[in-house]
Amino acid sequence: MWIGGVTLVNNSQDCFNDKNLMGEYLVGKDTIVLCDDNIEQSRQSMGRVLRHEYIHYIYDRDQRQTPILGENNLNKFVREMDSSEVMFVLISEDEDSVNEEFEARILSDLPSVLLFFLDAFLMIFH
Ligand SMILES: [Zn+2]
Repeated sequence: MWIGGVTLVNNSQDCFNDKNLMGEYLVGKDTIVLCDDNIEQSRQSMGRVLRHEYIHYIYDRDQRQTPILGENNLNKFVREMDSSEVMFVLISEDEDSVNEEFEARILSDLPSVLLFFLDAFLMIFH
């Protein structure tokens, strides 16, 4: 399957090896892996996982160094996040990708239609 320049792959070996993995974006390959079986097992939302990984794709495609929402807005949203989730991101991501991971978590809550418009806006104005 193919959406907006991204190839979707289902249930890779990584998914099989790590049951906690819901999905991943393969940097430089324009490919999103969705771990269907793991998502189903953990009762997560497939759409949310897809939107999360799509934010990673946007970062890679646009070679983004700054948050899509802007530094100040991103900080406001992070302050509203669950503190254990914030800690998890801070310890599991390296410094360069902390903002990207926060933003992927925050923007994955957007309805898909808004993400679509955001993506179109970024492609036109970046
Ligand atoms: Zn992520």
